Amino acid sequence: MLKNKTAVVTGGTRGIGFAIVKTYLDNGANVVVAGSRQETVDKALARLAEYGGRVMGICPDLCDPEAVGAAFASVKEKFGSLDILVNNAGVSSRTSLYDYTVDEFSKIMDLNVTAVFVCAQAAARIMKEQGGGVILNTSSMVSRYGQPAGCGYPTSKFAVNGLTTSLARELAKDQIRVNAVAPGVTATDMVAALPKEMVDRISAGIPLGRVGQPEDVANAFLYLASDQASYVTGAVINVDGAAMT
Ligand code: NAD
Repeated sequence: MLKNKTAVVTGGTRGIGFAIVKTYLDNGANVVVAGSRQETVDKALARLAEYGGRVMGICPDLCDPEAVGAAFASVKEKFGSLDILVNNAGVSSRTSLYDYTVDEFSKIMDLNVTAVFVCAQAAARIMKEQGGGVILNTSSMVSRYGQPAGCGYPTSKFAVNGLTTSLARELAKDQIRVNAVAPGVTATDMVAALPKEMVDRISAGIPLGRVGQPEDVANAFLYLASDQASYVTGAVINVDGAAMT
């Protein structure tokens, strides 16, 4: 579905991001794994050795326009284009409002919102010049309901939805589609670390009766990146088993 396309996936070293990377590679794309540290990028690349020269690693500071611009230019230089950007890197927190510091709030907003803006801007500049592209953002089910602690995280994901809708309208004239995927509870390392009975309790509250797998989420990202979604822009697709928690 993505033959001859080049994709950058931020936070591609593990969890949902790594599943997107693998799904895109399995569908013929060249994929650039963007991580926070060279060490984790190298580890991810080692797990993707079977894909040979179709994989590349970068680790710019995602909030630094110059660093991101240079990294994306190196992608275009290696593969000839940058067709798909997946803004997936994100951090969460469940700190109570009474204990929340401005520093912690800013850190969440920096990676979850400012980095999405910076990367979208750098990618859009390249995509406009080449005649189009796709920008995808990772939102969350908490962007609809909030959550009872850690207000910075849902606030950041509401902002991701706002960026998605606004950029879809602004960039449509340049043939750049912008969409988001809003996962529910997904079995990444964080969920794997929870006691089984807790996961069972969470699963029981989800109408589909289970937590999501990273591949469930990656498949939505595959559809939205592909030409199958050629008339879809400004959408936030829920991939959450109809959970409402
Ligand atoms: P994860 O913690 O397993 O992975 C997060 C990724 O972000 C890692 O690759 C990490 O290296 C990267 N990252 C963290 N800080 C970074 C930084 N400063 N610069 C660059 N990269 C950085 O998390 P995950 O569960 O796979 O989450 C991926 C996305 O999905 C996030 O945006 C998260 O908010 C969202 N999400 C996750 C769930 C879930 O249940 N797992 C649910 C809804 C939304």
